[in-house]
Amino acid sequence: MIHATRLGDVGGRAPVRTAAPGRVCHHAGCATRLSVYNPRLFCAVHSRDTEEPPPPGRNRCPKCGAVLEWTPANFHRDPKGSPQKLHRICKGCRNAHNHN
Ligand SMILES: [Zn+2]
Ligand SMILES: [Zn+2]
Repeated sequence: MIHATRLGDVGGRAPVRTAAPGRVCHHAGCATRLSVYNPRLFCAVHSRDTEEPPPPGRNRCPKCGAVLEWTPANFHRDPKGSPQKLHRICKGCRNAHNHN
């Protein structure tokens, strides 16, 4: 009998499961304590670019950390930006910064 059922959680980690206390961010040289409610291996600062990639079809904005559907509705077009030909930084962040 196989009990390898996955948590059918799309786009999120296992909910309401606390981690071991006293964990520290895995980023080299970072000593930030992780909350028991933070299931990640990295602190808020480092989780943005070291975390596992978002699910297919979605992109994590490196500025605000939001995981959005990787469509022209959420990201500006950029032929060199990514395989999707979309910018990696979300429209909201880009609009806040430069006006194109
Ligand atoms: Zn860290
Ligand atoms: Zn953003």
